[in-house]
Amino acid sequence: MDRMIRCITSDGSLMAAAVDTTEIVAIAQELHHTSATATAALGRLLSGASLMGAMLKKEEASLTMKINGGGPLGSVVAIADSHGNVRGYVEHPEVELPRKPNGKLDVGVGVGRDGLLMVIRDLGEGEPYVGQVRLSTGEIAEDITAYYAISEQIPTVCALGVLVDKESHLSMLSGGLLIQVLPGADNAAIDRLEENVRMLEPVTTMLAKGMTMEDICAKALDGFEMEILDEYQVKYVCTCSREKVIRALSTLPQNEIASLAGEDGYAEASCQYCGKKYRFSVEELEEIARNAATKKN
Ligand SMILES: [Zn+2]
Repeated sequence: MDRMIRCITSDGSLMAAAVDTTEIVAIAQELHHTSATATAALGRLLSGASLMGAMLKKEEASLTMKINGGGPLGSVVAIADSHGNVRGYVEHPEVELPRKPNGKLDVGVGVGRDGLLMVIRDLGEGEPYVGQVRLSTGEIAEDITAYYAISEQIPTVCALGVLVDKESHLSMLSGGLLIQVLPGADNAAIDRLEENVRMLEPVTTMLAKGMTMEDICAKALDGFEMEILDEYQVKYVCTCSREKVIRALSTLPQNEIASLAGEDGYAEASCQYCGKKYRFSVEELEEIARNAATKKN
């Protein structure tokens, strides 16, 4: 079971959150049949969204992250709830790219850097809050760091990693770490953090060593006394339902709804996030059209 913990230093100067998304990313790869590069891109964004979603202070709130950098993978989208549960997709999951000379997957080229990282926080009341930043590398972790620096003025360190087996192309390990400097932190705390960050190994290396989320936060906050704020079991969760598909269909013009059925007399909609298929007969479509018309009048 994947797990996240969030910690704060006892002096209140730093916050660190670590998440293991190994199962989440394996499920995402199975659902979307992602290539090695697409798995790394989607996996990193899912880990980032999970960490950022857990910072939402309202129970029913959600956080959507969208990246479109003009690269061959197309858009990458991840949505998290306030407990760090996530779902997501990549527009062109089959796209594969050669690894970089250092053996790493080339997420930056796959995503591209000519575009935006958009973060939408929906608190379930009124208009959602939308923030965005131009992509700096398309490697995702750096883009999240830039988002916090530019859009929210919060000094942040973000590290995300997905380890994909070179032969099977299967996702083996995945996780993320987010550290933030809180208001009132003094220079000594910031210097110490910078030193810790220099010493940090990649997230997947720490996971491969068997380090727990507590161990990873303790490394990030080395030299500080830390307390655990909260912890979550995190999962790949889709919130789609037949009712939601009907609600979306109802927004179409009435004559279009009934004409959606194919020659076999059925229309089929499949969920972008989990692949679940919803079938509607001509009769059901006509009823949806009638109900939508009644509501409009
Ligand atoms: Zn779904």
